[in-house]
Amino acid sequence: MRSPGGILICTDVTGAAREADTFTCAHCNAVVIVKPMTDPAEMGGRCRMCDGLICKRCAARGVCDPFEEKLKRIEASYHARRSYAA
Ligand SMILES: [Zn+2]
Ligand SMILES: [Zn+2]
Repeated sequence: MRSPGGILICTDVTGAAREADTFTCAHCNAVVIVKPMTDPAEMGGRCRMCDGLICKRCAARGVCDPFEEKLKRIEASYHARRSYAA
């Protein structure tokens, strides 16, 4: 049983709030809205490497590139540049 990562409250033009299941892509941090009666995996996929739900775009890339790792890389290169400059 897959469980989507969160609940997003959408307000449409009539002002009626409706709930939609969402998950956050484990690779690019995009919020993916899962349509009712739709398997989250159909909106993208589950990464076999990090076991996270991922969006269609990341699923198409076919590689594991977790968002947290990306942040670490950005941080590391930032510090590297700083130390070179100093
Ligand atoms: Zn993604
Ligand atoms: Zn992954």
